[in-house]
Amino acid sequence: MRTIIAGNWKMHKDQEGAIALVDALVTGMQGMPAGLEVIIAPPFPFIGSALERARGSGIGVAAQNCHQAAQGAYTGEVSAAMLKSLGVSYCIVGHSERRQYFGETDTAVGEKIAALLGQGIAPIYCCGERKEERENGRHFDVVGAQLKAALGALTGDQLRSIVVAYEPVWAIGTGLTATAQQAQDMHAHIRALLRTHGEAAAAEVPILYGGSCNPANAAELLACPDVNGGLIGGAALIAEQFLDIVRIARRVKPGH
Ligand code: PEP
Repeated sequence: MRTIIAGNWKMHKDQEGAIALVDALVTGMQGMPAGLEVIIAPPFPFIGSALERARGSGIGVAAQNCHQAAQGAYTGEVSAAMLKSLGVSYCIVGHSERRQYFGETDTAVGEKIAALLGQGIAPIYCCGERKEERENGRHFDVVGAQLKAALGALTGDQLRSIVVAYEPVWAIGTGLTATAQQAQDMHAHIRALLRTHGEAAAAEVPILYGGSCNPANAAELLACPDVNGGLIGGAALIAEQFLDIVRIARRVKPGH
């Protein structure tokens, strides 16, 4: 099973700060054995520079979003084909901030996934329940419904290109983290649901945990058998913290 540590920079940094962060990560990764996948998702304007600076370092570059249409009159949007033409290999879709602030629906997320797969870009598909949904004991059903809506139509072969990120909304940017048991239980639930696409395909899909993951709690979360890596927000903006999480993942996921 692959292990992936991905950093979501959200709407942070400027050109100079973005370059400095990529350079620090490239330097920090030097000498680390290959194997574990490290991905950064800078804001759109810095993707070109990030790709250039990260070339040959083993660090992959992701976008944080794309539009589902191939092209057209969608002012301010970016298509999967545009990302492909830059050399982007991954794209986050369905992040809870996109759902919350930009009205992104499960249907739109499914369309974005189809657009990305059409371009050979691996979607990093985010799902997760809100605080009240967990408190009401509905978290497994909510995540199940999200998965069905976004991934239900995919073939087993298409599923193999997907990375899933379980991000409980109540844990994103809040300092609250799912316990290792909560993460493992949900990841196992997601894995079981993916099996409707075929046992072999489901076994290959990395399921990342996201939500206030940092160097202090990463070891416990990453040690869970169905947690195949992390999607990191705040801690991805500080090179040493992100590199620490990469080092921890190497230690606790020896099979990567
Ligand atoms: C995220 O936004 O994907 C995320 C996990 O953020 P944070 O680590 O800051 O909670």
